[in-house]
Amino acid sequence: MSNTTPKRKKNKVLKIVRKNPIWITIALCIVIALVSDVIIVLLSETIGMYVFNSKIGDEYEAVSYMAKMYDIGTDENGGDIYALLNEDGRSYFITDTHGNILYEHGSNTMGHTNGKFKLPFTSQGETELRVYLDDVTEGVFEPDEDGELSINAASMFKFATKMGEEINLQIGIKKTSLEVPLWIAVDVKGGKQIFYAKVCGKITPSDMIFVGLFGIIGFVLVTCIIILMLINMINTLVYQKRISKVFFTDPITRGHNWMWFSFRGEQLLKKRRNAATSYAVLDLVFVKFRNYCVCHSVIEGEEMLNKVDKVLSANLNKKELAAHYASANFALLLKFKDREELKARIQQIIDQLEKIGVDHKFTFHVGVYVVENITDAKGRAKRRKDIDIEREYNNACTARSTLEECDDSGIAFFDENLVEEQKWIDTVMEHRRGAIENEEYVIYYQPKYDPKHNKLKGVEALIRWNSPELGFKSPGTFIPILEKNGFIQEIDHFMITHVARDQKAWLDAGYECVPASVNVSRAHFIEDDLAAQIRDAVDKEGCPHNLIEIELTESAFFDDKKAMIDTICKLKDYGFMVSMDDFGSGYSSLNSLKDMPLDILKLDAEFFKGDLNGGRGEIVISKAIALAKSLNMLTVAEGVEFKEQVDFLAEKGCDMIQGYFFAKPMPKEEYAEKMNRTIPVVQEIIPEN
Ligand code: C2E
Ligand code: CA
Ligand code: CA
Repeated sequence: MSNTTPKRKKNKVLKIVRKNPIWITIALCIVIALVSDVIIVLLSETIGMYVFNSKIGDEYEAVSYMAKMYDIGTDENGGDIYALLNEDGRSYFITDTHGNILYEHGSNTMGHTNGKFKLPFTSQGETELRVYLDDVTEGVFEPDEDGELSINAASMFKFATKMGEEINLQIGIKKTSLEVPLWIAVDVKGGKQIFYAKVCGKITPSDMIFVGLFGIIGFVLVTCIIILMLINMINTLVYQKRISKVFFTDPITRGHNWMWFSFRGEQLLKKRRNAATSYAVLDLVFVKFRNYCVCHSVIEGEEMLNKVDKVLSANLNKKELAAHYASANFALLLKFKDREELKARIQQIIDQLEKIGVDHKFTFHVGVYVVENITDAKGRAKRRKDIDIEREYNNACTARSTLEECDDSGIAFFDENLVEEQKWIDTVMEHRRGAIENEEYVIYYQPKYDPKHNKLKGVEALIRWNSPELGFKSPGTFIPILEKNGFIQEIDHFMITHVARDQKAWLDAGYECVPASVNVSRAHFIEDDLAAQIRDAVDKEGCPHNLIEIELTESAFFDDKKAMIDTICKLKDYGFMVSMDDFGSGYSSLNSLKDMPLDILKLDAEFFKGDLNGGRGEIVISKAIALAKSLNMLTVAEGVEFKEQVDFLAEKGCDMIQGYFFAKPMPKEEYAEKMNRTIPVVQEIIPEN
């Protein structure tokens, strides 16, 4: 996993993209649409009022005036007022509240008595009600011999309404302009009577043009606004798509990147799904990708990553994801029904990936974190709101990191213990410098004895971590972590310096010092000047070189053999002894022995666990001792706990025994007591005059 700062930046960008500004655009469009609607309604109202005023405004005033005249003019001489009103020449009639006509005057288009409409001044055969639409006769209603039209009120009203609104209603006469007869009703006599007067609104072609123009302008305006809004929305969508493409595309593989993976992945994982199907988050690593880039070129390396991305994408099913995370890491999200099936599928993908190089068989490590389904009482999968894809991927990475870099391709599943392990790794790494500075690392010494005479012949210095916070820790809990994460050089240097210092102090104090061996990690052996570094550190403490022995673990011999031999030779030239630790625990020990000019062979403790395997173990040990002797090497047997083992080793000529039978590793004060001590000669210092 890379550092967290760019990750945080990525997340911030992702959040902005996720916020989806399209909603802002849509909200803006709605506001604009509402505002334009309001404007159009207000305009229509204004124009409607203008048309009404210009067409029948005056007429309305006149009718109101007539009604007022009638209202105040009626007294016992009511007849006079009718004469006055009739002078106006306008058609009008007055009814009571039941609709009975009390008085009528002029060419009323219709009145009604006993449910029949009566056409005004109609004599039989003379007048007819003609209805025209676009100058074509639509229908004719002829009055009966009494001059009355026996049309039912509802159908007549329908016609009248229709005619008034849409068609040119004339009585016997065709006209080009549209005349709309309107009856204005005014309550008179305190609401006991109604005064109806006829007005006529004329709609001329210029009026039509005016209204038509207004309609067209309104339509164009609304259309423009809608088009502008649509353009804006499309622009926003296109822009967003482009931005998404930039954010979600990996610059190396040109495929999807981590941001896309985390965005889509979280959506998929949070969804409710079939309880029988689970998801797994995978971290797939192209092992030794850097080496490939060094041997070939960065461009070729990137081409390989491209190929990996293509193979991964080709292996995906619906609703599965793959993306380049960073460096040589890829993230995958796969569906599966059972773990074995998932494992087989991953293996299949690895098999394909191993062959992407023409002349190389590549190695891939895969860490798997299974996202467990949470089910309800009925066994159905529930929605998972607690998904954090970054955390799940991290877990997959933790599982993957359990595979050693030198391992072949492999798959590792995450389990909860790994979290604890990871936490401990972090603790060790966090405290490593402070532990050196505060002298929390302490040295224990485990003596090595000559089994024949039970005489102290040597000692191994072993580290312990006495942490005030975490307690007393044995090297197995932190040395492998420091070896893997790159702090072992500092530890080795600390040990050599302190052991040399202790030896020098004991020497000065008159102890009969024996060689003390110090473990030097294989990781340290890649440094060219290791022998010189050791020499300088020991010299700085003033310790004789023959009191320091360097232990190399057998596994270290697999690395650069030539460099190793070179360093061993230098160390020997400087006067240090060099031993091969854990002999017998690896599988190429004999081969290493052939090439390395070593002084001491340390037989691994595994040889002495349990009985000596009914004679076979004894044969192997005795032959190993004999082999060492013939190569002029001393032998040390490690992990010896029983008297029989000591006797056996003494008989076979083993030079030293380091094991609990004689002594466990102990603090330096305790070890000092095991050494013989000659009282040092105290030289009298004669002061100068
Ligand atoms: P090692 O170098 O093989 O050290 C011998 C280990 O065997 C020691 O464990 C010692 O306590 C243990 N041992 C000795 N005799 C017996 C016995 O009779 N029975 C049993 N059961 N165990 C016995 P320790 O001290 O825990 O060290 C473990 C390993 O840690 C060492 O294995 C060595 O690989 C590493 N180590 C310890 N100190 C250092 C150090 O200063 N530098 C480096 N690089 N590695 C160190
Ligand atoms: Ca050792
Ligand atoms: Ca050992």
